[in-house]
Amino acid sequence: MNVFHGKGVYGAVAIGRASVFSRQSTEVRRIRITDPAYELSRIESAKAQALEELSAIHEKALREVGEANAEIFGIHMMMLEDDDYNDSIRSIIETQSVNAEYAVAVTSDNFAEMFAAMEDAYMQARAADVRDISNRLIACLTGGTEAAAQGTDKRIVCADDLAPSETVSLDKERVLAFVTAAGSANSHTAILARNMNIPAVIGVGQAFLEQLSDGVLLIVDGHTGDVYVDPDEETQQRMEQKMAEDARKKQLLQELRGKDNVTLDGRHIHIFANISGVDSIGAVLANDAGGIGLFRSEFLYLESEDYPTEEEQFTAYRKVLERMAGRKVIVRTLDIGADKQIGYFGLDKEDNPALGFRAIRICLTRPELFRTQLRALYRASAYGDLGIMFPMITSESEVQQCLAMCKQVQNELQADGLPFDPDTELGIMIETPAAAVISDRLAPLVDFFSVGTNDLTQYTLACDRQNPRLEPFVDTHHEAILRLIEMAAQNAHKNGAWIGICGELAADVTLTETFLRMGIDELSVSPPFVLPLREQVRSLRIE
Ligand code: PEP
Ligand code: MG
Repeated sequence: MNVFHGKGVYGAVAIGRASVFSRQSTEVRRIRITDPAYELSRIESAKAQALEELSAIHEKALREVGEANAEIFGIHMMMLEDDDYNDSIRSIIETQSVNAEYAVAVTSDNFAEMFAAMEDAYMQARAADVRDISNRLIACLTGGTEAAAQGTDKRIVCADDLAPSETVSLDKERVLAFVTAAGSANSHTAILARNMNIPAVIGVGQAFLEQLSDGVLLIVDGHTGDVYVDPDEETQQRMEQKMAEDARKKQLLQELRGKDNVTLDGRHIHIFANISGVDSIGAVLANDAGGIGLFRSEFLYLESEDYPTEEEQFTAYRKVLERMAGRKVIVRTLDIGADKQIGYFGLDKEDNPALGFRAIRICLTRPELFRTQLRALYRASAYGDLGIMFPMITSESEVQQCLAMCKQVQNELQADGLPFDPDTELGIMIETPAAAVISDRLAPLVDFFSVGTNDLTQYTLACDRQNPRLEPFVDTHHEAILRLIEMAAQNAHKNGAWIGICGELAADVTLTETFLRMGIDELSVSPPFVLPLREQVRSLRIE
């Protein structure tokens, strides 16, 4: 048994088999293995699956594009069966003791280079084909493919790091837990793990991956951040007990469903939930959140191959509002950039992306994009209690431009005869120190503030939230952050606005009393934290 330590980002335990996440093109990892026969058997089943897929494609092509055009898939099947190609894969696994994916990737490079160097144009063109069949084979070998989907067991996904777009494209029904070698507690991958209600440990270090292979038994303890590889009997029993305790506590919390978020001396606070997509509504309702305090709308864009249309967005927002049946739903407008990159936006690479062209800066520079989203939102406003909020605000002028765009969209919808709610609440995120410091000027412009403590912390303490090396320097309770929140709360209330907190700090029960004393009106947290927070509120006396 080996134990690795990282940061637990969602407190629960998972026991299961590892699935090493590998990016399917150039980024195949070289992993040392001890059981070449197992890797060879994986190759055989992946090959069988790839041949089956190719045969189906071949038949479809024959029906739809004719024999001449379909021939290429016949050639691909032959190449997959080619002796030289298969001998190369086998010999790399056996002589170098490496994983199947890596052996396929090296074979692919060698054969493609060999074909590309040939005189004959026909043979040169085979370079692309060999890459194509190799990518298919690698895809069949790795977790997210049909090979995994055919199995019945859930897996523990292990990766060097996961980009938010990769995390959202994983089949959530099949993920027992996450372990990443890199990553930090406030990264969006960590936030997604919390939202998805699954145990996760991040930042365990590269050594973990170097000795890991697919199928190894793991225990992930999201409470302590410990990851046990090939655990002994005693550890397994201890962890099974911990899982049983977790289940008991969860059961007890269920008794708080339907109860008020009220302190012993009668102070009420709203507890809402954060979501990243329509899929999470079930968790919001199961945990009895009073509303949605943050819908990270950029995930609609991240999950899609191209800009989601007004109609597609309208359908998603309307669905959330309808399912929330009159409870408040606050949608944050597009917040991409920094760690949330989307290929089709064609954004330039930046040296300091967290301080770069992101969020509202992109929307104000590309008004058509902004307008499409706001039209979809206002149209959806007719179906429930919508709030719209704008991220990464630093100035009055940005807020005024947002409000002008909202006005323009309202006028257009009126002219088009489309229903919308003209009283839709408009708010801004307080996630830059600038916004907190000028909150006296911003509050009169809006209906509400929502404090994004994840970014507010990174900008106030000058600590990149993506950088795990900085974790020891990130004091989330730093007085500077608390003073900025208090300042924003006072300025909101002086100007008739309300204020919530939707960053991860909202779920920190050691601060609930402080937030209540500041007069915070709403806390919005990942769905599994709603009931623990309610429990904390109900145990406090504020006056
Ligand atoms: C925040 O910054 O605290 C926040 C809620 O937004 P995100 O984590 O999506 O940047
Ligand atoms: Mg933010």
